[in-house]
Amino acid sequence: MIRLDAPRGLFALLATIAVALSSLTGARAEAVQPADGPTPAPPWPAFVAELSSGAHPEPGYRFYDELHAQIAEVVELYPGRVRPFSLGATVQGAPIWGFRCSDPMTPIQKTMLVFGAIHPLEWASSEVVTDALLACARRPPPGVLMVFVPVLNVDGRRTVENDLMSGNDRYRRGNAAGVDLNRDFTSNRESKAIWRHIIPSRYSTSPAPLSQPESRAIDALAAAERFDVAMSFHAFGGYFYYPWAGRWERPKDRAEFVALGHLMEEAQPGRPYRTQQLSHWAFFFRGCGMELDHLYERYDTRAFLIELTRSGVSPWRPWTWDQHFRLYNPVDPSPDAASGAAAVRAMAWHLAGAPG
Ligand SMILES: [Zn+2]
Repeated sequence: MIRLDAPRGLFALLATIAVALSSLTGARAEAVQPADGPTPAPPWPAFVAELSSGAHPEPGYRFYDELHAQIAEVVELYPGRVRPFSLGATVQGAPIWGFRCSDPMTPIQKTMLVFGAIHPLEWASSEVVTDALLACARRPPPGVLMVFVPVLNVDGRRTVENDLMSGNDRYRRGNAAGVDLNRDFTSNRESKAIWRHIIPSRYSTSPAPLSQPESRAIDALAAAERFDVAMSFHAFGGYFYYPWAGRWERPKDRAEFVALGHLMEEAQPGRPYRTQQLSHWAFFFRGCGMELDHLYERYDTRAFLIELTRSGVSPWRPWTWDQHFRLYNPVDPSPDAASGAAAVRAMAWHLAGAPG
């Protein structure tokens, strides 16, 4: 979600309306040394052995451990096809798990990055990234390396899980250091929009570019892989956003972004999302230091920020108006999980040059 402030009550409702309009055996981690910090990640099997499950208050969603337990099944089932690795460590020292997925029988021609949960409340994102990973495991697009990071902000996500288990519906947006990771990248940190003088909070960034280990981990991965395409999943809105986020000008590759957006729209069942340049979401909006601008400007990656869902808060259900978790996450995420996974599949098979 692109707004910055904690929404409450009527404000949340208005925001909703506004946006609505618009293997254990043989499985080895490829790299266990995190890009950041001295603490090595545990080997994948040791990590998996510690995963737990149990009842929780959001049965439509998988908790962090449940997501990874399900991924562990395909790692075991398709050895060599899904390869876990750690791309870094969080502020609190947790490994950030990534998964490379490809058909080992075909040489790699194209690469794409699919990641979620920069923002800890936006759980629909991890549902989609995990489902897309499971789909790749079953049938990888030939010649395409897909790299999945279901949960980037691991500390934030764990905190929200603890909140839910204790009945605490807190608004949370940052990592363990309280930094919004999606204002921590290098590109377009200084807005030229005149509106920055009127509503300065809308144009704020982190203290310094790549100040946080989580954003450095994604940057290091992107620098190593030079992805052709990146899809960063958020909630909510129902949009395929392309750069720029931090400046009004059109990107030089706009026609290609629009074509890729339409490709994803056409693959979606039901009511498709809309393709738009992020800074054109609203006349006053600029997103400074965001991931899509960074990946596009620095690595020439066709980077999309995808706002899943149209919120779980409804004008017709007043009791939902001040629910932070529900603002981003409908009770049943399956329609949007299907829409998001369809978009990933369309993009991957487009890169493969084959019908999906
Ligand atoms: Zn977000």
